[in-house]
Amino acid sequence: MSEQDCLFCKIINGNAAADVVYQDNRCVVIRDINPQAPTHVLVIPREHIESLDDASQKDETLLGHLLRISARVANEHGLSDSGGYRAVINTGRGAGQSVFHLHVHVLGGREMTWPPG
Ligand code: AMP
Ligand code: ZN
Repeated sequence: MSEQDCLFCKIINGNAAADVVYQDNRCVVIRDINPQAPTHVLVIPREHIESLDDASQKDETLLGHLLRISARVANEHGLSDSGGYRAVINTGRGAGQSVFHLHVHVLGGREMTWPPG
């Protein structure tokens, strides 16, 4: 998918609406429009990378940043104190990826089961 057709690029560029809960110069965090837990946010890099599979060595610092911000946002939503949270990166259609712009799901506020479906 090209960046012009990418929903998350549109959100990041202000061309589509979203409920933004955090942003900095490398990423934007929005509430998921179809939440799967009481708290469900998406940590999205500003740079268009299609999936974790497309990240390269030059993206290592960015990937670390996305995980650190995932923890920070989870903490700010009280998830660490309420039993924990899950950070998930669906990679590829078979794994449930539907938007082909890398993002970390942060879910919490309910009991989680394992393995995930
Ligand atoms: P994935 O299926 O892992 O690619 O995750 C994409 C996520 O984006 C899904 O959980 C969707 O509910 C969510 N989503 C789709 N459209 C929007 C939107 N306009 N605003 C916020 N979240 C969205
Ligand atoms: Zn994109």
